Amino acid sequence: MDDYSIISEDIEIINNNQRRGGKPKDRVWDYFKVIDVPNNSHKGAQCVFCSLSWKRGKPTDMKAHLALKCPMVNHNVKLEYLRTISSEDLEQTIQNQSDDNDNNIADTAKINKALVRLFVCCGIPFSIVDSPFFQDFVKSLCYKYELPGRTTLSGNYLDAEIANITLKVEEELRFLKNLTLG
Ligand SMILES: [Zn+2]
Repeated sequence: MDDYSIISEDIEIINNNQRRGGKPKDRVWDYFKVIDVPNNSHKGAQCVFCSLSWKRGKPTDMKAHLALKCPMVNHNVKLEYLRTISSEDLEQTIQNQSDDNDNNIADTAKINKALVRLFVCCGIPFSIVDSPFFQDFVKSLCYKYELPGRTTLSGNYLDAEIANITLKVEEELRFLKNLTLG
């Protein structure tokens, strides 16, 4: 009973969306219960499908969970978030470099994708991006390119790339199924 009242209070706060003038809550919260953490302005999150919870709900982690990790997620929600995170890496690049021209943005997204593929397919540890020798090598190829940090590369960018591949496999399977049925 107590838990329920805490959750409904939080839902009211979210509906207001004007909390301390902050950003509106991400829609991904529709699939997570809000958990109040005492003495902390950040909210915990619990997946409504598998009940896994975080002390601090971060939309990026929550989306990756629904798209790639949740064992009990509904198929349509999984597909929705596979699409979201596979396109988000480009959107983030656009936000970070809003003063750059369109070509540079597209180029950076393409380079980051190629970089993730190189690291994954060749089994290179992600820690290499922190090496001054690697950074020096990259800077000498293209001075303007900013290497993503190790956690961004192994987190967001890797998740985006896995989401891309999963979506392609999904489409391929649907095509094969149509062939068999047709
Ligand atoms: Zn889950």
